[in-house]
Amino acid sequence: MENMVKKWDSKVNSASDISVTARGTLSMLMQHLNEEDKRPVIKLSQGDPAAFPCFRTSHAAEEAVINALRSAKYNCYAPFVGIPPARRAVAEYLSRDLPYKLSPDDVYITSGGAQAMEIILSVIAGPGASILLPRPGFANYEARCAFSNLEVRHYDLLPEKGWEVDLDGVKALADENTIAIVIINPGNPCGNVFSYEHLKKIAETAIELGLLVVADEVYGHLTFGCTPFVPMAVFGSSIPIITLGSISKRWSVTGWRLGWLVNCDPTGTLQKSRIVECINSSLKIISNPVTFIQGALPQILDLEKTNSDYFSISTNLLKEATEILCDKIKEIPGITCPTKPEGSVFAMVKLDFSQLEDIDDDMDFCVKLAKEESVIVLPGVIVGLKNWLRISFATDPKYLENGLERVKSFCKKHFKKHFY
Ligand SMILES: *Cc1c(COP(=O)(O)O)cnc(C)c1O
Repeated sequence: MENMVKKWDSKVNSASDISVTARGTLSMLMQHLNEEDKRPVIKLSQGDPAAFPCFRTSHAAEEAVINALRSAKYNCYAPFVGIPPARRAVAEYLSRDLPYKLSPDDVYITSGGAQAMEIILSVIAGPGASILLPRPGFANYEARCAFSNLEVRHYDLLPEKGWEVDLDGVKALADENTIAIVIINPGNPCGNVFSYEHLKKIAETAIELGLLVVADEVYGHLTFGCTPFVPMAVFGSSIPIITLGSISKRWSVTGWRLGWLVNCDPTGTLQKSRIVECINSSLKIISNPVTFIQGALPQILDLEKTNSDYFSISTNLLKEATEILCDKIKEIPGITCPTKPEGSVFAMVKLDFSQLEDIDDDMDFCVKLAKEESVIVLPGVIVGLKNWLRISFATDPKYLENGLERVKSFCKKHFKKHFY
């Protein structure tokens, strides 16, 4: 028996060693909570608006699902690429913001943005291939690349430039085996939104380096600052773009598991490569999203049906939360938020250890914060930036305020005495 287990273990995918996903770290932090503290735990860690009643999804989306279910038309297996009305609805929804029209054939319906990520990363993981990922970024990319044996190279997002891409760094990293670059916009974890001009420079760099651009736009249109959301695919005529998206965040239905992978390829360049063929093959062996949610998608994405109040209420809540976040952080010694978020549901805040004592690093900060104040935040090291914190503001604004009030007591307690 022992030998059998040894044999199995020698062949297990070594990617299982990766415990540094956000979820793994958060459950570790939860174990440090102090049971004596009778106050409720405040979690500023997860980017899940659906956990709060104030972000409840639109009435139209709920009706759409009920109608789809009641119609009894969506109880069977769906085609592996998604049902035709759902593909058409995504093509139309995305084409509203593009200078060309996407075809339903360009669209694959997936189980959330996460499965769209999984598909494209496994497709481009040929022998020796590498991919460029942002740092800080979304740790699921690293974990998924490890499972696919896809080599990761990190390019930096620059805090002093509002988290723009370090394009010189990108040029220095890519070689002939580098297949793709992932761009997350609006950004998780920095809450930044790239301008049209910056996206254009990214496209030009990708053309120069021969990179496929994978645009993670799961937070598409979740913006509330001065910079409007521009989809990467507006540059599709110059270079093919693979766009990933979902209804999870904008509609606040993370549990519905409905997303898409779209070939934005008006020149037909991707069609000439084996990438499209490989995406099709991979879709044949994975599980589709639930058919009645696919059936509801045309009504959900029909923006005339969704009372536009729904979107303005949720973006206003997020805007209000970022204001609370930035104001409150100014009152807290030892931490700063250099860039006010303009999109997504996250901000990165910086720790200043010249002002804090009895704390070793960001991980230690988060462990002690859980223990002393029953607040959970994610250490920056998990998303690639040591001695920063990632804070989610996809919460009730009052809840965020209470959480930050506790962070303030914590930082005051650990503030270096000679600073007073
Ligand atoms: C949440 C998230 C995803 C996954 O989206 P789902 O639709 O929930 O699967 C992908 N990318 C980023 C950057 C995210 O924050």
